[in-house]
Amino acid sequence: MTLSDNCGRPLLNLRISVTQRCNLHCTYCHREGEVKQANRSAEKMSPDEIVRIAKTAVNLGIQRIKLTGGEPLMRQDLCDIVQGIAHIPSIKDLSMTTNGILLAPIAEKLRTAGLNRVNISLPTLNPETYKKLTGGNLKQALAGVQAAAKAGFCPVKLNMVILKGINENDVADMIDFARQTGTVLQLIELDPINVSGDYYSTHHRFLDEQEAILKEKAISIESRRFMHNRRIYHLPHVTVEVVHPIENTEFCMHCTRIRVTSDGKLKPCLMRNDNLTDLLTPLREGATDEELTQLFKQANKLREPFNKN
Ligand code: SAM
Repeated sequence: MTLSDNCGRPLLNLRISVTQRCNLHCTYCHREGEVKQANRSAEKMSPDEIVRIAKTAVNLGIQRIKLTGGEPLMRQDLCDIVQGIAHIPSIKDLSMTTNGILLAPIAEKLRTAGLNRVNISLPTLNPETYKKLTGGNLKQALAGVQAAAKAGFCPVKLNMVILKGINENDVADMIDFARQTGTVLQLIELDPINVSGDYYSTHHRFLDEQEAILKEKAISIESRRFMHNRRIYHLPHVTVEVVHPIENTEFCMHCTRIRVTSDGKLKPCLMRNDNLTDLLTPLREGATDEELTQLFKQANKLREPFNKN
């Protein structure tokens, strides 16, 4: 069974924020569109609760789950979460997005627990720019990239949010780095969520120019229909994906996602917080599998394209 929303968009992907805690302070961070919680020191969902939510999703035809946050690696029990989800029959893909800082010592363990893929946020290869943008140490993030490749995650993707005046000229270096490390580069347009209007107008840049350059260099180009129709450029010995959501009606029309916030609410759209469905409270009050399924179905009907023609 696959659910579709009122616009006929299938529901195939789930992003679960497993924590709001983070060890970096990226200036551009959208925090998965979540409102900042007052008390962020304790996790809101236990591994069992997260796995139960994931099971409900998979039973409804969701094939791919991504763990996000905050920083998922802040959780000591992350391997338990991964193992629990990876063992759900008929799940096709379990991945995580991370800043990579804490990844090196635990990469193999996560791979063994059943994590298939990782995306590592890497906005630049310049240590000073990295420090300014994230507050972190670039060397640790790069160690995370190496460890991910060594552990056999396939593919390892590098997520580079493009910021005008900060890292827009670093793309060629990032492409070379992706080629050297056997990783896939994702160029991501800045989303205007949880950043100030001033920050957005100063640093947002459309990716048209970058795409034009990639088009010229590409050996072949494909579109990922069920991932916002995003373009994939295959260059010699390296692949570059472009994620550009702003003023792009195709992006929303091909969205197949729903999110679970770190406090257990279904969130139909990254851009909105006015249509959340609480799952965690009913789950804790003893909801049956059927009742959780109904809540998922209700939330699915609230999915609608944010940018319409
Ligand atoms: N801490 C983890 C990380 O760094 O990947 C997970 C959380 S982070 C919010 C998840 C993803 O969102 C990262 O790939 C990051 O590059 C991307 N991201 C963060 N802020 C963004 C923004 N304003 N616009 C577009 N993408 C953003």
